[in-house]
Amino acid sequence: RPAVEMLEHGDVAARIPVPGRHADKYRRGVLGMLAGSTRYRGAALLSVGGAVHGGAGMVRYAGPREVSAMVLERWPEAVTAPDVEHTDRVQAWAVGSGLGDDRGDEAEAALASGLPVLVDADGLRHLPAELTCPALLTPHAGELARMLDVDRGDVEARRLHHAREAARRWGATVLLKGSTTLVVSPDGRVRVNSTGTPALATAGSGDVLAGLGGALLAAGLDPLDAGSVAAHIHGVAGQVAAGTAGQPAASDVLDAVPGAMVSLVAA
Ligand code: AMP
Ligand code: MG
Repeated sequence: RPAVEMLEHGDVAARIPVPGRHADKYRRGVLGMLAGSTRYRGAALLSVGGAVHGGAGMVRYAGPREVSAMVLERWPEAVTAPDVEHTDRVQAWAVGSGLGDDRGDEAEAALASGLPVLVDADGLRHLPAELTCPALLTPHAGELARMLDVDRGDVEARRLHHAREAARRWGATVLLKGSTTLVVSPDGRVRVNSTGTPALATAGSGDVLAGLGGALLAAGLDPLDAGSVAAHIHGVAGQVAAGTAGQPAASDVLDAVPGAMVSLVAA
């Protein structure tokens, strides 16, 4: 079995896409986002924000009118659409954060688009038997337990085993969140994240991560790199936010992302 890898700051910095002189927004990556709902509005704001600060050239948010209005108030750079069908030029999808139990058809459409996809939270309820696109699944232990129909305790007791099992079953990269985040690719490579803080254990923190990972997929990183780089940046942002806000909200973690990326690239 290949060794477990741990990325250092420099390894991550080298993988963060830096817009070149001739960059344009399409080349930087257009991320379609199916996230948030009238019930979980904040998830839309946090995941769109994660994608914006993750470096997406454009975020196309597909969602209910009232949620789109909130997204635009906070992120005027987002482009909104009523549903997945009415999005244009999308290069990758982030599906599921705060989606609730509606909009399964749209989630399935995004997953069937053939584009790279990040699937989080409620989006994980809509996985087809096998994924044929480059995919990054971002469950926490409870979500992975539901996906595999095992007890959460079993997942907690053998995290790597179960993440591998899901990666094999869906042919996807699995980023298993928790105090230690594992990223397991279907070819058997494993990365363990070395950053983070228990201060990240707060509502909305996973939504920021999903936006970051989605932006990196849209920029063309493969799912293993997108997941491990996103987790690393998210962890540094959490550490920075904890250092200034003490008990940071997920919004504080999001606000700390640009500084975290600057510090990584400068290091
Ligand atoms: P979610 O469960 O979707 O809200 O995501 C929570 C985020 O916080 C994930 O990125 C986790 O890896 C991170 N996280 C949760 N608990 C801890 C912890 N005790 N230490 C470090 N990171 C954590
Ligand atoms: Mg979550």
